[in-house]
Amino acid sequence: MHFFKRFKINKKGIYGKSIFDFSVKRKEIPNLKKLLSDVLVKNIPVDELELTHTFEKAGEKTLILGARRIVLDGYKTKLILLSIEDISERKKKEAHKDDFVGYVTHELKTPLTSLSMFVQILTGYHKKTDDKKSLFLLEKAATQIERLTKLLDSFSGVYKAQNGKLELQKEKVDVNKLMREVVETFQYTQNTHEIKHTGTIKKQILIDKERIYEVLVNLLTNAIKYSPDSDKINIKLTEDDKKITISVQDFGFGIPQDEKEMVFERFFRVKSKEENKIKGLGLGLYLVNEIIKAHKGKLWVESREGQGSIFYFSLPKK
Ligand code: ADP
Repeated sequence: MHFFKRFKINKKGIYGKSIFDFSVKRKEIPNLKKLLSDVLVKNIPVDELELTHTFEKAGEKTLILGARRIVLDGYKTKLILLSIEDISERKKKEAHKDDFVGYVTHELKTPLTSLSMFVQILTGYHKKTDDKKSLFLLEKAATQIERLTKLLDSFSGVYKAQNGKLELQKEKVDVNKLMREVVETFQYTQNTHEIKHTGTIKKQILIDKERIYEVLVNLLTNAIKYSPDSDKINIKLTEDDKKITISVQDFGFGIPQDEKEMVFERFFRVKSKEENKIKGLGLGLYLVNEIIKAHKGKLWVESREGQGSIFYFSLPKK
């Protein structure tokens, strides 16, 4: 019943017809035919396949398809059990949300840039008059502006990644130097953790320097954020013939075994008592993963709850 209603198909007209008769876009048919023939002939089941299908009356729909070959008593021919979920509405909502994020981040960045400029001018002015109180407050304002800018950058990074717009500007980069720079910046701006940096590689490699810098900043920020009771972080660089690998190790909360893979998903955050106190949006690792994927690299994590985590990423040399 539901099927007929949702896809606006006349119940009487369905018997004896193949599913392909319900598609008005001819180009959609060959793929579907091949898929279903694989199910029937080769017994290859289909799980959670997303596809679009255009129905005569209901129009274009985004569907999640599942298909399995079944044998029923009394039937000589093999049959296919199809499950169809209509996710068109969900898709539409997601698309709107993404457009909205893109728009908002862009619109917020413009006044923020002016604000930052005014703070800089005022700072220059108060340096001359040596007004310590104003300088102190302006420094606080500048830090908050910087935080907001970073947040917006990460939003717009996520937005671009989702829409396949994450373009890399690759150049030959000395990764040893890049890592030194990041570690020095962290040592300079925080004093809770000592960051031990080991390993070097021989040659420069072709990567997007800014994006990989962002990856390192994200991983180090997390390592510090999620290990408040420890004071050490290890960051290590190694290489083999084909790739370089960087690892960031902390001795903090760790990640529960069954949530390890989920930390790379958008908006996912581990829900533990300690971690609930720590601010975050659950976007950093998603973006890191997208950047590494765009480089055709790999990102993974080893972790033990209560002992700490090691985040690894590797990048191909060519
Ligand atoms: P955020 O830190 O803003 O929440 P991330 O995408 O960077 O977002 O991380 C997602 C989640 O993964 C975090 O909320 C946290 O629960 C977990 N996580 C990330 N890094 C670590 C780490 N080094 N140790 C423990 N948990 C971590």
